[in-house]
Amino acid sequence: MDVTYKSTRNSSETATASQAILKGLAERGGLFVPDHIPALDVSLETLAKMSYKQVAYEVMKLMFTDFTEEELKHCIDGAYDKKFDTELIAPLVSKAGAHYLELFHGATIAFKDMALSILPYLLVTAAKKNNVKNDIVILTATSGDTGKAALAGFADVPGTKIIVFYPKNGVSPIQEKQMVTQKGNNTYVVGIVGNFDDAQTGVKNMFSDKALAEEMDRAGYQFSSANSINIGRLVPQMVYYVYAYTRLVADGTISVGEPINVVVPTGNFGNILAAYYAKEMGLPIAKFICASNENKVLYDFFATGVYDKNRDFILTSSPSMDILISSNLERLIYRIAGEDSEKNNQLMQALTKEGKYEITGEMRAKLSLFYGNYASEQETAATIKRVYTSDHYIMDTHTAVAATVYDKYVKDTGDKTPTVIASTASPYKFTRSVMEAIDTKYASQSDFALVDELNRISGVTIPQAIEDIRSAEILHDTVCDKAEMEQTVRDILKL
Ligand SMILES: *Cc1c(COP(=O)(O)O)cnc(C)c1O
Repeated sequence: MDVTYKSTRNSSETATASQAILKGLAERGGLFVPDHIPALDVSLETLAKMSYKQVAYEVMKLMFTDFTEEELKHCIDGAYDKKFDTELIAPLVSKAGAHYLELFHGATIAFKDMALSILPYLLVTAAKKNNVKNDIVILTATSGDTGKAALAGFADVPGTKIIVFYPKNGVSPIQEKQMVTQKGNNTYVVGIVGNFDDAQTGVKNMFSDKALAEEMDRAGYQFSSANSINIGRLVPQMVYYVYAYTRLVADGTISVGEPINVVVPTGNFGNILAAYYAKEMGLPIAKFICASNENKVLYDFFATGVYDKNRDFILTSSPSMDILISSNLERLIYRIAGEDSEKNNQLMQALTKEGKYEITGEMRAKLSLFYGNYASEQETAATIKRVYTSDHYIMDTHTAVAATVYDKYVKDTGDKTPTVIASTASPYKFTRSVMEAIDTKYASQSDFALVDELNRISGVTIPQAIEDIRSAEILHDTVCDKAEMEQTVRDILKL
């Protein structure tokens, strides 16, 4: 049976997979969700013998039912190639009592590459299938990693333009340098005076603006999204959970059917939601451990049933998780509200108007598979240092938030279930914070001196993504106020 996608804010707005990918966002700010999630139709034993690309096909064919086998395989082959520095694509590394799923071996060294290396292929294929004549303008808000991964994926892709908004003072030095040096004559990078939530809200408002859409259409353009609000991001992210589980089967750590837990350092709730969808496809995951940094709105939500963004926005050493409005949580809220778009609408309107909402006891009961906790800045740094000292394994700040929360979970519960920790970025992307966590003496050194020092103490090869920006020219220097985002888009597109 085909999977149809429907809006979380209006069940009668439906789309095929390719239409949902093209649109990115449903009308009135809704998100597209699958009407059902099919069960895997090959056994976990069989999947354990497959390559990443083969697993990707087995998962994606179930969710993207209006793509042909040839189309999907073309997209998968184009995405998961030499851009990754290992043929494994997502290696699983067992260290310090957990299994780290390294999702940062792609072109921009963060987990966003796992989906953004395939999204351009999916989008171009979807445009062809639906006879789209307009150029597609990818409008993206980034907390640091999506931006670069999307730029790299869409640079010079014919028929597309990409515009990225990032918080001017809210990303790491290396993240910013990666973005502002992006080549390609269809790429635009804009710093905003504001935080990630401002950027995401500005982008969502442009998506919901009908008049703007009509004007765009007259000029031969239409918007799509590279954020995890696009279902074309979430489905490719399901793949690596299936891959990780079946690697543990292949190496004898678990037997088929045995449960695992997953720990996900969370911001916009896309990555952990993909794990939840993978479970619904039949993957034996027992607990979803949601790790937050000091912006612990999700921890509070799981603890109290109240989602409340009315609090200070804290800039942390894990900037890609500095988020107070976790967009993809809406997809889970919709689910636990019994797929009732009216109920979901009421809660989301309360979030827009009052900045908070409270779910019912009945809804809370449906969240028992989730465990939330958070890590302070100090705890995060201590974890980096501890695991480096004990296991000679250097993790990035986001992964360290997850590892810290995992420790808290084990202390709280005594649960010894084998656990996969999503390792979402290379330590080279957050070199300064990582090195200062290991030793405060590094505080006085320059970013690239620290890169070389990280290489020396870890023995891990410096990724090409870092070598590329050492001497790269700055090509983008536009900065605007958060209130000027639409005008900036108009200027870029000459509307
Ligand atoms: C985006 C990102 C996250 C958060 O992922 P979500 O899907 O937004 O929850 C965590 N770590 C890193 C390094 C990221 O880039």
